[in-house]
Amino acid sequence: MKPQRVAVIGGGIGGLTAAGVLARTGFDVTLFEATDSLGGKAGTVTVNGLVFDTGPTVMTMPDTVRATFAELGAEDLMPRLERLPLQTHYRYADGREFSCWEDLDRAAESAAALNAADGKGLRAFFADAENVYRAAGQPYLEAPYETMMGFMTRAARNGLGTLFTGLKLSTLDALGKRHFRGPHLRQFVNRFATYAGASPYEANAAFAMIAHIERAFGVHHVIGGLQGLVRGLEAAARRNGVGIELGVKVRHEKRGSGFVVGEREFDAVVVNADPLELQHRSADPLTMSGYVAMFEAPKRLSLPHHTILFAADYEKEFAELAAGRLAEELTVHLCHPAATDATMAPEGKSGLYVMVNVPPFRLGEEAAWQGHARTLEAQLRARLSAMVPELRDVPLSLVAERTPVDLANKGAPRGSIYGYLPHGKFGPFNRPAMRGTDPGVFFAGGGTHPGGGVPLVMLSGRFAAGLTTAHLGGRS
Ligand SMILES: Cc1cc2nc3c(=O)[nH]c(=O)nc-3n(C[C@H](O)[C@H](O)[C@H](O)COP(=O)(O)OP(=O)(O)OC[C@H]3O[C@@H](n4cnc5c(N)ncnc54)[C@H](O)[C@@H]3O)c2cc1C
Repeated sequence: MKPQRVAVIGGGIGGLTAAGVLARTGFDVTLFEATDSLGGKAGTVTVNGLVFDTGPTVMTMPDTVRATFAELGAEDLMPRLERLPLQTHYRYADGREFSCWEDLDRAAESAAALNAADGKGLRAFFADAENVYRAAGQPYLEAPYETMMGFMTRAARNGLGTLFTGLKLSTLDALGKRHFRGPHLRQFVNRFATYAGASPYEANAAFAMIAHIERAFGVHHVIGGLQGLVRGLEAAARRNGVGIELGVKVRHEKRGSGFVVGEREFDAVVVNADPLELQHRSADPLTMSGYVAMFEAPKRLSLPHHTILFAADYEKEFAELAAGRLAEELTVHLCHPAATDATMAPEGKSGLYVMVNVPPFRLGEEAAWQGHARTLEAQLRARLSAMVPELRDVPLSLVAERTPVDLANKGAPRGSIYGYLPHGKFGPFNRPAMRGTDPGVFFAGGGTHPGGGVPLVMLSGRFAAGLTTAHLGGRS
């Protein structure tokens, strides 16, 4: 009997994962990618011997990555992940600093140096973050979210009391205020909302679980850059028999009991494109976009791997972004991968990835980004030299950049990194569904369940593969 055919639309991490798993299950899988390369938002460029990730730089949940390669039968293709003992170094506008070590004792010591009470506060915050993870995070990440009842049934295993406590939580900002006396650690807590492209003043305190995930499972770097992960997934997909077609933008159409994609017939479809438009939710508010500048430094710097340079007034920054403006003073993510991985820069040089959040653009205003990029470059140079003493006299050359328009060219709606904006208490439960309205269509990727970020998107790909398999009458 001929195997059933599945089309996967989009070669981002979610699409590659779903395609590989489905092919390994025994389906005849074709993956269509609109651009001429795989990986979607997860890219790597090499300029003058310097290797830069252009999207994700922070990898966590290594067990999820490992389990994904295992499900693909491709543990041998998984890139090496290096765990960072100093997860992130924070610099504040008033010149103070906080080192978030994976080791809680060291992190608490650094917090206590900012405010004596905040050392204890940090431990209490991480304990709360762990509780939220166990009550809501684990059941949310364990299976495709289809109904609140299904989620509650899974959550009940860990005790409904904990879940109800979790649901009573208000915003992430309120949680930070509960645990910390000083402004510095409150700002540290608030930053975790940006991992979902959201605002800490609107997102539920449950996003604190990301802080727990980082501390418990580690912050990692992919040796050689994220491209290693994309290549590993591509090789696994091909080895399992996936046919990959690049440079073909396709859509699916219902035909009889199946679908037509790219003029061919399929029994089921996995869509890795952002689901908002296809699920008639284009008017939904969007998460933030991002601008990334990549600089070459003519010497090997001694900066940590990840540094955050906080803006003085975080609330003002988010208000400006929500109003669709570039913030006057920016919070900056500075990534210096040569701190961990010598393969990322030739001897005597360093590459710096510098990212800031910006609003999604308004349709028709794409051209304005040429000017915005120059404004941001000037602002970033000024902030780097004002806040990082080591960079004050280093002539940095801009060698590459990525704007929201580049993200839109990879299918991100108006450049929004994560698509759907999970604000409000039930925000994470209102994500675009994994099931399309036509039976046999499933969604995978950062725009659907369980959300954005590389490991979650891998989970999404595996969930979509499971739902497709069950639909086609196979083993789920
Ligand atoms: C600047 C930046 C920083 C980030 N930092 C981190 C980080 O530190 N850690 C982390 O874990 N995550 C991070 N992320 C998020 C992470 O990159 C994404 O959540 C993840 O890569 C999204 O994967 P996806 O499967 O949703 O596919 P996407 O990357 O969205 O790819 C979708 C693919 O589908 C293709 N496509 C769309 N429509 C069609 C069509 N009609 N036909 C054919 N192909 C189509 C697109 O061309 C694209 O290749 C970051 C993202 C950005 C942009």
